[in-house]
Amino acid sequence: MMKNYVKDRYELAAQTLSKKLERRNFEVIICQDLEAAKKSALRMIASDKTVGFGGSITVEKSGLIEALYQRGQQMIDREKTETPEERHRVMKQALTADYFLTSINGISEDGQLVNVDSVGNRVAALTYGPDKVLAFVSMRKVYGDVETTLEMVRKNTAPLNAHRLGLEKTPCIKKGNCGDCLQPECICNTIVITRRSMVKNRLAIFLLLEDVGL
Ligand code: SF4
Repeated sequence: MMKNYVKDRYELAAQTLSKKLERRNFEVIICQDLEAAKKSALRMIASDKTVGFGGSITVEKSGLIEALYQRGQQMIDREKTETPEERHRVMKQALTADYFLTSINGISEDGQLVNVDSVGNRVAALTYGPDKVLAFVSMRKVYGDVETTLEMVRKNTAPLNAHRLGLEKTPCIKKGNCGDCLQPECICNTIVITRRSMVKNRLAIFLLLEDVGL
């Protein structure tokens, strides 16, 4: 059987990175795949607490949201709203959930987290509010130093997200590359670097040894 070099490389890199992340007060869970991440997140979340989520196709793809619904978890879900006003209210409510589920756009090799956000609710929850944040991220998103990570997130992930959302007036859709735009449709409104967590283990990072997410 052919050796899985990518997974082997990711596994060693994840062990090295986890030490850097833990020094910054982040909790680290190394997961073979999304299924393992889902199972371990389900164990971590107390069943009588509220859960908010947003801005992560990786979390959605894992099936974690459905599994939480199935076990009767109290979910704060903006997708279940019917009007823009109600959606806004639920998004604000998610900022005070007991747990918040999301992902991270990029991690530097020294363990800093880079996120670009449109509305800002995802980076708000990541920074302050929910007692515990669970973030899923593939080892593919570990790019190098913090400048390189920021550049990769802005030049690669953000344009891909704009394409996914079909934001046709943005330069990244018209030309394929980020044009550092200030368009009304721009999704790159807030760029956040999380160097360290003040509260130890508030932010749990699930490092995935497979290629998932944008
Ligand atoms: S062109 Fe605008 S929306 Fe597209 S990636 Fe760049 S800053 Fe973001």
